[in-house]
Parts: sequence; C-alpha cells; structure tokens
Amino acid sequence: MTFSALLQNWYQSSQRDLPWRKTQDAYSIWLSEIILQQTRVQQGMAYYLKFKKHYPTVSDLAKAEEDEVLKHWQGLGYYSRARNLHATAKRVHEEFNGVFPTTYAEIRKLKGIGDYTAAAIASFAYNLPHAVVDGNVYRVLSRLYGDDTPIDSTQGKKLFQQLADELLDQKHPGNHNQAMMEFGALQCVPKNPDCVACPAQPQCKAFEMSRVEILPVKAKKTKQRNRYFHYLVPRFEEYLFIEKREDKGIWHNLYQFPLIEVPENIAQSKVPELEAWQALVGHPDVIIESVSETYKHILSHQRIFASFWRLNVPFEVVQRLEKKYLKITAKDLERYAIPRLIDRYLEDEQSKRQIGLPFNFR
Ligand code: SF4
Repeated sequence: MTFSALLQNWYQSSQRDLPWRKTQDAYSIWLSEIILQQTRVQQGMAYYLKFKKHYPTVSDLAKAEEDEVLKHWQGLGYYSRARNLHATAKRVHEEFNGVFPTTYAEIRKLKGIGDYTAAAIASFAYNLPHAVVDGNVYRVLSRLYGDDTPIDSTQGKKLFQQLADELLDQKHPGNHNQAMMEFGALQCVPKNPDCVACPAQPQCKAFEMSRVEILPVKAKKTKQRNRYFHYLVPRFEEYLFIEKREDKGIWHNLYQFPLIEVPENIAQSKVPELEAWQALVGHPDVIIESVSETYKHILSHQRIFASFWRLNVPFEVVQRLEKKYLKITAKDLERYAIPRLIDRYLEDEQSKRQIGLPFNFR
C-alpha cells in the first residue's frame, strides 16, 4: 500500500468534524486557513463561524470597514493576517468580480497567501495537484524519512516540498493534503507520539532509528527582545483617551491608551519623572489612582512588560490630551479593536470592579 493510501485510510476513520472541511467554497477555505495560521483549531473555529456570519461572501468582507474587521479579529493576534485578509477580499471583489481565482499561480499572487495557503486552497477547492507543507507536514516528512535537514533552511524547504510532491496522490490531492495535515495534528504530534499504534510505523525511518524525539530539526532560534510599556489611562468624567497605532510595527491600526515606552525596566517611582509623562499628564493636580501589576505579553519576537496607570486628571490636562488623542466614553471603548494585552487588563479591571472603583470600562 502506498503511503498516501495508508494516510487516506487513516484519515477516513480519524478525521475531526470541522466546518471548513464540508465545503469546496474557496472563500471559506481561504478564511479558515488564514485564521488557523498560528491559532489552535478550537479557538479558530469560533472566529471562523463569526466571520462567516458577518461576511458570508468575499464581497461582504471586502465592503466592511477595516476597523470592524480588526475588531472581529481581536484576540487572535498577528493582526497583519486580518489586514491582508481584508486587502485580498477587496482585490477579489474588485478584480475578480467576487469569485476567487481558480489557478494556483493566481491564488499565490494574492496578498497574505504563501505557498502553503495557495496549495491548500487550490487542492481543497479545485482539487489541483499541489502538495501542502505546513509545520505539521514538515514534522511528518522529517520523521518518515528520518531526515535531519533543518526545516527552516532554504535547503530543507526545498527538500521537504519535493518529498511532499512525490507522495501526493495526483487523483485526490485535496483529500491527501487534508489527511497529511490531520495526521501531523493528531497522530504524529510534536511530543510523545503514539508510534506503537501508528499505521505508518512500518515505513517510518525515525521510529526505526529511535530518532522520533529529535526530529524535525530547526536551525535558528528566534531571538526575542524585551520592551517596557507604561500605558496611561487618564480619566476625566466618563471619558478616556485612546489613539490608533499608525506605525508599521506590532498592532498596526489597533487602538491603545497613551503609551510611554522606556528602553529598560525602571522603578515605578521614576515613571512620573519621565519627560514623556510630564509632557502628557504633568500637572500638580493629577492623581495616580492605581498602578496595575506588570503584565507580561509574549509575541513571536518580543516580550512586552506593561503597566497601566489609572489617573484622575484635571481639565487642563484633558485639553492637552485632546490635541493628540481620541476622546471617547469608557462605554464606547468596546467599539475599537485593541491588542489582547490591553484587553487582558480591562478584563482584570472588570473582574475586580466593585463599589469604589471609578468607572466601568465596558
Ligand atoms: S511512527 Fe511515530 S514518528 Fe513515525 S509517523 Fe508514526 S507517529 Fe510519526
């Protein structure tokens, strides 16, 4: 029996029941694939259903405001995916009349769609013979062939794509690809896979050579840098101040409280002495109502340490803040897409809420 036949037999009896598997609609498949990048299936499912409900077609998504799309995306992280999703929906709506392109080459040219996603859409929606290689597939192939070429090297990428292409069932590429990915997600898992019960075990080189735990190999370790954020949450009556992050770094186009970033971890008592603090809220009548615990927020290349300073500010400071920030009511905050880090703080504030706290954020 070929590996593909074995794989598809296994898939027949072991696959999970997932909504995007029941359709050949390229828009739905694309949506699910973008959501599932860097996201667990369980979490992704809720977002997929939400997007399908709000935007049943690619044209509905194209016509939405970006702020609204980002708001629906809130909590998933990696917001460039949402911005690319929206940009591509617009392009499909405008240039392709709302119909997803039907060739691999055209799909691959769309923003936010790389080799893997293009192969997934082409094979799942149109049954085109393009093999998918995602993190799960790298692991399966590296173990199956007992190959320790680093999966994040140029050589490794080429090699594993070639192996995936060779194994592909040309007649049923969509089913083969689904099976391969599911096999990596459920059977050939990163830690302690159940090799004894694995149907591919007789063909598996890593099992034969007792190399399962050390494969696949990665060449680079991701470098992370630390960043130190102090968010100011000035209160005036029922108002708050927020701004849109316009720079191209993290959280582009999401909203946040006035932010002071410092290059290193400094004592809390030093923060009100900072020039940036003085410029924003320096005034003898400002009252620091509370300083939050330090929130640690991990992104792929950064570790963020953030504190939230809730302030009671006089009218003079409000006039200063109004020039630079958006003045909104606390209740309106829920209309804006905010980073998960700020959402975590607001959730904590809400759960701590009791008589005596100045206002509700939500
Ligand atoms: S035998 Fe183990 S390592 Fe090999 S494919 Fe099966 S689960 Fe993966």
